[in-house]
Amino acid sequence: MQPKPGTLYSYALANKIAGAYLGTANAAQINANFNSNLGNAGCLDGTFFYLGLDSNHGANIDFVVTLLHEMGHGIGFQTFTNGSTGAQNGGYLAIWDHFLYGSTAGKLWKDMTNAERQASALSIDKLAWTGAGVTIPSVRITQADGVALLGQLAKRTRTSSGVVGAFNLVGSQYSGADPLGRMMMFAPNPYQSGSSVSHFDTSAFRNQLMEPAISGDLTQSVLLPQDLTFKLLQDIGWKVPTNAGRAGMLGLPGSKRQGVLSTLPFFHCRLLPPMLLVEFPRRRFHLGEYPCDSKH
Ligand SMILES: [Zn+2]
Repeated sequence: MQPKPGTLYSYALANKIAGAYLGTANAAQINANFNSNLGNAGCLDGTFFYLGLDSNHGANIDFVVTLLHEMGHGIGFQTFTNGSTGAQNGGYLAIWDHFLYGSTAGKLWKDMTNAERQASALSIDKLAWTGAGVTIPSVRITQADGVALLGQLAKRTRTSSGVVGAFNLVGSQYSGADPLGRMMMFAPNPYQSGSSVSHFDTSAFRNQLMEPAISGDLTQSVLLPQDLTFKLLQDIGWKVPTNAGRAGMLGLPGSKRQGVLSTLPFFHCRLLPPMLLVEFPRRRFHLGEYPCDSKH
């Protein structure tokens, strides 16, 4: 995919697209802080980060999942346009503006006025992702149909089941999707700074890594069929690495990453303004406001 002109990308993605290290040498591209006080008095008392890699977090919080969520923001799962005011950052489109669609105005964010974007960010179930990669297939029946089936099954005889049925896919009933089957983005009213727009809607099920709050049933996968994170990242320009690319990544100089993103199990992601904006559109990602503060 060719980069879109006049458009802000996350720092890491801008580098990837450019095939070069843009900006200040050795500067952090993603910063993340995680709160070591989690679980102590006053900070989700008794609920600690589980540091194992095996998903056996029980009632505690899977640190790997928390990390994946924040890294997801860092590599581009966020808008750079101010959802509270509708203003574009520095007058530039964000790559997200090309995919965010407000069905009230009937426009993509890139084509909206500030006022339209501001309203769209509060539109609850009228903000959708239009990237080609993000769809959710599901098959299910309503409770009423289930009751009817049970009733028919109760009447079956030795020669007849009493039940004849057919499954049909109903695109308008995908969990977490709008009537046209597009994944809904989180757009509560009132606006939730740090959460609105830059997450999948919480109505998604199965639960998604990039919802605004962690769910205990999340796996550590960012791929289908469990999760749509990587599909969205592909929409904005990330590619599936080739084997050669993977090998290259392992030896990539300067690959050490630092972190200041969230804190709590992403209950309070805080998306801060970009650090850099130079000749190639890009953004450095920062999070870090601490409901129970302890930066490390
Ligand atoms: Zn988040």
